[in-house]
Amino acid sequence: MCAVILRNRTSRTGAQLIDPDQSKLRALKLIRRTEGLSRIELAKALGFNKATVTDLVADLLRRDLLVEEKGAAAGRGRPRTHLSINASAGYVISVSPLMGERASIDIVDLKGSRIHSCETVLAPFDDVEALPDMLSGVLGAVLDEEIVPRAAIRYAAIVLPGLVNHRDGIVHWLPSSKTAMSVPLARQMEERVGIPVILDNRVAAIARAEHWFGSEGNLDSFTLIALLEQGMNAARYVEGRMQIGHNGMNSEFSHVKVAFEGGRPCYCGSSGCITAYASVSGIGSALARLRGIGLSDWSQRTTAFEEAVRLTAAKEEGEVAGLFATAGEALGTAIASHINEHDPGRVIVVSARPDLLSLMRRHCEERVDSSTLPILRERTSVEYRTVRPDEYWKGTAALALEGVYRAPSS
Ligand SMILES: [Zn+2]
Repeated sequence: MCAVILRNRTSRTGAQLIDPDQSKLRALKLIRRTEGLSRIELAKALGFNKATVTDLVADLLRRDLLVEEKGAAAGRGRPRTHLSINASAGYVISVSPLMGERASIDIVDLKGSRIHSCETVLAPFDDVEALPDMLSGVLGAVLDEEIVPRAAIRYAAIVLPGLVNHRDGIVHWLPSSKTAMSVPLARQMEERVGIPVILDNRVAAIARAEHWFGSEGNLDSFTLIALLEQGMNAARYVEGRMQIGHNGMNSEFSHVKVAFEGGRPCYCGSSGCITAYASVSGIGSALARLRGIGLSDWSQRTTAFEEAVRLTAAKEEGEVAGLFATAGEALGTAIASHINEHDPGRVIVVSARPDLLSLMRRHCEERVDSSTLPILRERTSVEYRTVRPDEYWKGTAALALEGVYRAPSS
């Protein structure tokens, strides 16, 4: 039974009283993923009764988000009717930062098919206060091209590499920012570009791409842990909903503690955080400490990480190879703790760097196996793969589509 149904309650028409925005989102995502579904199949998949689905579908047809198409009749029966997403009823636009201050700007239709893509160069993310003007300018320039009529763009999504309050559209921290302050970026951009704007972080985008565009495994309930080009983080889906915290914050898995009493220092000001052990920047910083060198910025940590990879591949220094064993053990410990606490069912570890994954994976797997409760370990799949380049735009566009799908009825 669907979690959002208020059990045993129905309206005068017999429809169940449900959370309407969430139900529309679930229905539309399901119809998009299956590329055509009958009303009966939809009711069964959502756990809704006939009256509830009738009301839901009527609203979505009225808002032009769905179309109903007649298929071929089965035998001598009536033609089968399918519900499909009305792909051209609107579009969304997404901005997803890539490495080297580049960003991908993409326009997709309501089915999630990309109809336009371009790359732009952003100003450095070193001034949080400058973000609204900078990102609005980038977005506005593409909107002005009128690739589709500007009025047809219904939502914009921005993915940022930092601490984001997804629910309230606030950026609290970016790794390269010189100032620490909270900026209501979504609202300020909305005022400038004239369309609703929604924010998230990069790992949430990868998880959302898996949920919307993945093809195997449980796409509705999983935890995704991403080792990015410099840092790391995680995002978790439960029954089709990404989990955000009480204060609207995304997961900050990178600061889960895996050591104390002498744990490695972390850029957050604390120590013993998983990112200080298992991320590119953490491993780079650890190598620098072995050498007695201080590192002042993120690019230096990446360079030091690459030196650690080179030394390990050349088998020149056992102490350096130990950094990757420790990285795997730390990550495996954090994953096992997560499984023991949350029983996610499926854990996906993705890495932006194949070298990091290959050097630490075996150690991670061993630690997951030894530290997870056996009854949970045998019921949990743990997968490892590299990040697919298209996951950033797909996940960001899906975020904007969720804004359209969830929009209240007018
Ligand atoms: Zn930390």
